[in-house]
Amino acid sequence: MIDTAVIGAGPAGCAAAIALARAGREVLLLERQAAARESVCGEFLGADAAAALRGLGLDPAALGGLPLRRARVGWGRHEAGFALPFAAWALPRQMLDGAMRVAAMAAGAEFRAGVAVLAAEPDAAGWRLRTGAGEVLARRVVLATGKHALRGHPRAGAQRGALGLKLHLQGVEPGDAVTLLPFAGGYAGLQPLPGGGANLCAALQGGAGATARDAGAFLAHIAGGSALGARLLAGARPAWDRPLAVAGLPYGFRQGTAGPPGLYRVGDQAAVIPSFAGEGIALALHSGLAAAAAILAEREAAEFHAAWRRRSAGPMRWAALGAWVLRQAPGGFALGARLAPAARLVARRTRMAA
Ligand SMILES: Cc1cc2nc3c(=O)[nH]c(=O)nc-3n(C[C@H](O)[C@H](O)[C@H](O)COP(=O)(O)OP(=O)(O)OC[C@H]3O[C@@H](n4cnc5c(N)ncnc54)[C@H](O)[C@@H]3O)c2cc1C
Repeated sequence: MIDTAVIGAGPAGCAAAIALARAGREVLLLERQAAARESVCGEFLGADAAAALRGLGLDPAALGGLPLRRARVGWGRHEAGFALPFAAWALPRQMLDGAMRVAAMAAGAEFRAGVAVLAAEPDAAGWRLRTGAGEVLARRVVLATGKHALRGHPRAGAQRGALGLKLHLQGVEPGDAVTLLPFAGGYAGLQPLPGGGANLCAALQGGAGATARDAGAFLAHIAGGSALGARLLAGARPAWDRPLAVAGLPYGFRQGTAGPPGLYRVGDQAAVIPSFAGEGIALALHSGLAAAAAILAEREAAEFHAAWRRRSAGPMRWAALGAWVLRQAPGGFALGARLAPAARLVARRTRMAA
């Protein structure tokens, strides 16, 4: 019987594992991937995520992140740009997740990679986990499986809607800017990769057809949405034949207060913020830290979920508004001259209070 089992070693699970292990708790961190790898993410890291990482002893620049100083938006023939009102980085998830797993082990957590948790059931003393490599008994569980629900523990009320796509590109140099590109059916984010080239990531509503299956079709779809997109992507050479994809993203989901005792949901299992805000990693990190604090203070899962619901409400609302505005742009919605101040406002309001 171990004290806490953490299922999933993304930013949320790793943050919880590091904080609990540093406080002297026995922690087992279980991750189904054998090693950190590419995942569908825009990889924009804002100031709140950086603050949480620094608290864990990890610095975005030292991890290889590129500083981002500007934001641009292109819609139809129009475009607007503004200086980001906070420090931000382009940091590939493979680098971030890998560094956080190493930090969890250094803090004293036991890390088992390549072990998928197949089921988690309550029993008299806590939780019984069935994994591909035998059973684990734990007093409590931190559920940090991200986009993927653990069998038997669906996110109640989650609307399975959007499709996420990601493609690495050569021949595109976005400089120190993150660029938002609305197009018919969704919007994309483009930003530099530390080794050169760019990461193009998109959230689409509804069916994607060939866009999801073919890198060329994906690029053409986004380039068709704006003059800025067409210009930036003109010389793009896709690094993969088809984009990485993740389906059924329940944007706007927030965990209620109900749920079994001893099961703490964090990251995308607690709330799924629309991708426009670039705050998913910050929410994941801060929720992992908040769950660890609740466990250390002997606060029950329901109390933690209620507190997290309140804390994430503002950023979730503002991000939903920003995403809605972006989705209207290809239909001729007048983003106009007020876009830059409005985007700065949304960028400020989606920050997580530390
Ligand atoms: C299209 C798109 C673009 C985005 N862009 C950004 C952005 O630019 N900036 C930003 O901050 N956020 C962004 N996000 C959001 C961000 O990616 C997520 O919010 C964040 O990854 C959530 O972290 P997490 O730790 O909860 O989950 P994840 O990062 O998904 O990690 C979950 C981990 O659990 C593991 N796992 C799953 N099931 C099991 C199991 N049964 N057993 C063991 N292990 C398991 C997985 O392998 C994975 O390693 C974006 C999301 C999408 C979809």
